[in-house]
Amino acid sequence: MNASNTDGADGASGAFDTRAIHAGQAFDPTTGAVIPPIYQTSTFVQDGIGGLRGGYEYNRSANPTRSALQAQLASLEGAAHGFSFASGLAAEDALLRAAMRPGDHIVLGNDVYGGTHRLISKILGEWGIEITTVEMGDLDAVGAAIRPSTKVLWVETPSNPLMKITNIASLAQLGHDRGLLVVVDNTFATPALQTPLALGADVVVHSTTKYLGGHSDVLGGAVLLRDDELAEKVGFIQFAAGAVSAPLDAWLTTRGIKTLSVRMQRHSENAQAIAEHLAGHPAIERVYYPGLPDHPGHDIASTQMSRFGGMVSLALAAGPTAARTLAESTHLFQLAESLGGVESLIGYPPEMTHASVRGTELAVPENVVRLSVGIEDVADLIADLDDALDGLG
Ligand SMILES: *Cc1c(COP(=O)(O)O)cnc(C)c1O
Repeated sequence: MNASNTDGADGASGAFDTRAIHAGQAFDPTTGAVIPPIYQTSTFVQDGIGGLRGGYEYNRSANPTRSALQAQLASLEGAAHGFSFASGLAAEDALLRAAMRPGDHIVLGNDVYGGTHRLISKILGEWGIEITTVEMGDLDAVGAAIRPSTKVLWVETPSNPLMKITNIASLAQLGHDRGLLVVVDNTFATPALQTPLALGADVVVHSTTKYLGGHSDVLGGAVLLRDDELAEKVGFIQFAAGAVSAPLDAWLTTRGIKTLSVRMQRHSENAQAIAEHLAGHPAIERVYYPGLPDHPGHDIASTQMSRFGGMVSLALAAGPTAARTLAESTHLFQLAESLGGVESLIGYPPEMTHASVRGTELAVPENVVRLSVGIEDVADLIADLDDALDGLG
């Protein structure tokens, strides 16, 4: 495997905000360009057969722009190895195929991203992977779900869309006592707010489409881990199956990550203000936000996250129709799938992000809307929500 495919040599030292800007981002040695170029090429000239320059041969095996992103991501999650993919689900697929074999079993949070559940149950299930969903914050329930064939524990914290919090250190301890691989989907928190590997998890996955890219203009995913043997397998699948990030996509993601920290700060401040404002609103039955002191996961979140993130869900007191109407009546909060961009979005999970699990045990309450709070002026965002809530009558 090509050394440039993973981090190591090119990781800058220093604090998080410094590494976000410099890890993997050395200036171009040929021209001095401050920003490493986008290597928009499918192949690389060889100095004689097998004479590769810097180990680069063909874009599926490695590309310098992708290597730069992988080094940056690995540095931020405290990983030894980073792999970037064409989407979050492509990253998950590569990891699961590297870590599991037919007949193996996975224990999954009962509120994971619907697409993750769909990938495992509908695609990997056909190849013999077995799945149990469980309330991940309930360690007794997790312990009871583990079988002799269990290989992986998979958690999202905060979860989507109900913002449930799982104690990553405790889950990792339980998983390791039972010899399991503990995977955290860190898409919602990002390494700016939470670093699962430092808390004992084995692998972090991301949809970089969301906060890491941060501008709703690129799709991508990543796998970050420490273990050399598993990294070799993930790297082989990345190369042999080929769901790699394209050079321009990798470059856009890298550019987004440089401002991750300041964006997450503002996302979190805005979300906190909105959550506090709506907690007292008569049209709102419940606000789901880990930054509110009465959120059941608030204390754990306070210890494992530096801020509480930009995602807020709301249960409407008047029920499902009010929730649908609210999602269709805001203006600054645009109705769309996805999350994590600088612009605010609103979604109705039962018919959008979580449509694939509607009617299953993973279904989301029908009176819930999900906000991805952007970094606009918070007074404008609050006014937009208040107007739409007033309009419900
Ligand atoms: C969006 C998302 C994914 C899937 O990522 P894609 O980039 O859409 O493939 C996985 N996990 C979470 C938490 C997500 O929000």
